Amino acid sequence: MSQTLVVCPFCGCGCNFYLEEREGKAVGVTPSREHPVSKGALCAKGWSAYGFVNHPERLRSPMMRDHGIIRDVTWGEALDHVSTKLLEIKKEFGSESLGFLSSAKVTNEENYLLMKMARAAFKSNNVDHCARLCHASTVAGLAASFGSGAMTNSIEEFEDAEAFFVIGSNTTEQHPMIATRIIQAVVNKKAKLIVADPRDIRLAKWATVWLRHKVGSDVALLNGLMHVILKEGWEDRAFIESRTENFEELKNLVAAYSPERVAEITGVDPESLRKAAQTYATSKKAMIVYAMGITQHVAGTDNVKSCANLAMLTGHMGFPSTGVNPLRGQNNVQGACDMGGLPNVYTDYQPVADPKVKKKFEEAWGVTDLNDKPGLTLTDMIAKAEKGELKALYVMGENPIVSDPNAHHVMKALRKLDFLVVQDIFLSETAGFAHVILPAVTFAEKDGTFTNTERRVQLSRQALAPLDGAMPDWRIISEISSRAGYPMNYKSSAEILAEINRVTPSYGGITLERLKNTWGLQWPCPDEKHPGSPFLHKDRFKRGLGRFEGREYIPPPEVPDEEYPFVLTTGRVAFQYHTRTMTRRIPILEREAPKAFLEMNPIDARRLRVRDGMMVAVESRRGQQRLPVLLTSVVPEGVVFGAFHYGEANINELTTSAADPVAKIPELKSCAVNIRRL
Ligand code: SF4
Repeated sequence: MSQTLVVCPFCGCGCNFYLEEREGKAVGVTPSREHPVSKGALCAKGWSAYGFVNHPERLRSPMMRDHGIIRDVTWGEALDHVSTKLLEIKKEFGSESLGFLSSAKVTNEENYLLMKMARAAFKSNNVDHCARLCHASTVAGLAASFGSGAMTNSIEEFEDAEAFFVIGSNTTEQHPMIATRIIQAVVNKKAKLIVADPRDIRLAKWATVWLRHKVGSDVALLNGLMHVILKEGWEDRAFIESRTENFEELKNLVAAYSPERVAEITGVDPESLRKAAQTYATSKKAMIVYAMGITQHVAGTDNVKSCANLAMLTGHMGFPSTGVNPLRGQNNVQGACDMGGLPNVYTDYQPVADPKVKKKFEEAWGVTDLNDKPGLTLTDMIAKAEKGELKALYVMGENPIVSDPNAHHVMKALRKLDFLVVQDIFLSETAGFAHVILPAVTFAEKDGTFTNTERRVQLSRQALAPLDGAMPDWRIISEISSRAGYPMNYKSSAEILAEINRVTPSYGGITLERLKNTWGLQWPCPDEKHPGSPFLHKDRFKRGLGRFEGREYIPPPEVPDEEYPFVLTTGRVAFQYHTRTMTRRIPILEREAPKAFLEMNPIDARRLRVRDGMMVAVESRRGQQRLPVLLTSVVPEGVVFGAFHYGEANINELTTSAADPVAKIPELKSCAVNIRRL
């Protein structure tokens, strides 16, 4: 048996483990004791991560649709067809008619190549990925406030925090190893914990104060906390004066958010609000931790900016164990963003519209006419496809039919495409609509780097030979690009990383040689002497001064009414991952969370005469779904909750595509529904 050190293929914590191989198959895992996140432990998903690698349903041959029938074809036939068809569509309808979705599940090198192919070979900036659905508002909001849209501090620093403010993060379910750190700090070091969440999440059991605010009322809650802090004089005047700008505007805005007014909007009593404000503001080292409960709203960017305002107001920035810490969902969503898998930037967020940046990439890539007009976001690509204006979509390792809101609208859009290519390891729901399916390999069968939620770039090593008939994503992209007239002659992912080092300032010193001998390096790491950056914004924000941007509360786009009297909110469970393409094939995880469900408060259930386990019809303005009820006081009265993992009972057939106007992130956390007993 051999053991190879790899990065966990699931969440953004970025744990490392040794993948055990016997007779060419993945047979088990052993956690790394030394790794700064894993520290000898893994969650249930990590322990069973080998389980899908050799699954019999893995894709083993390229496939093409012929008169509605999918048939196996050779790699040569598939690659020729994809490159020819994309070129034909580009010629007839222009490069704006092509879209490319990169992936938060594949390596940095592969994300880099997909965006390079889109931009250099097809001259399209229509590049995006599912960060649009989880943390696009983090990128926009924190960039405006601080100049950099990433987690400011490190997971190891959780150990020394004196207080945590966890808002909109069901940490035990989504980032189990980070939740463990928080709980350990609370239990062993008496750190204080403020939890703000409409649901009675597991973390609330350890909370000093739990703020059960209404779904979508985050801005009002955060403004209320700042109102109290200013009234009581708990703000950090020295920090405000030396490190920030626009304070007076914020002060005037939050003056209108008295605890009594905030109570009316959020449902949080004034005493709890005061206690939370005091706990956070008067602790020396306090960390804000948030996830998609903050970002997946039409007010997502406002929510993020309000978190940033709170941290700057109290001076909890620029030191260890402080900061604003968005927890990224998938194992490489940070890396996919860093690699320019976004419509407006190249790597390291270098704007496509900046003439100097354009010239830099033209020289680096040996091309002359890169497109300087920012492209379409994922949500805009789907809308344009539905109108027939986007003609082709290339999807690498994503499953928008299950992950995107308003699934009927997504399916309608995909049906309208002239050409859909899906590159994946299993036949996903989206692959079912594809004209060409290209079989890729898993994390275990390739080398490459992944960037976890704390900006730690880590090397994952190849443990197994690629499955017969499948190819690493970077090879597939290289082949298509070369056939389309823009040669890519990479021999290994190491060569791609070396190119990334040259064109990406924050990754300049994150070389393969250094990664081989470390537990990863945290960007920014501009040169080979730089040790990496465990925390950001020490002495100076990336943008210079931190900017206060006060935001007014705006209600969610759909509020309950007579016809649709419940709020539906969506999220995840610990035993499943994203659209379940991998975890549904791991029996032990399936045993724990096999089916979709709808959490409902027992008081609502009594009113509707619904019992535990009974099927109900859940209807929104966009669709209907049948789900079994799970009675629980985890959800408050008037709110129901469903997990989005389950394609066969897709909760996203109900959610709305109303989106944040800045980040274009959809409102996945709140829509109005009606519930009928069946
Ligand atoms: Fe993998 Fe995340 Fe679990 Fe760590 S916490 S083992 S990265 S799923």
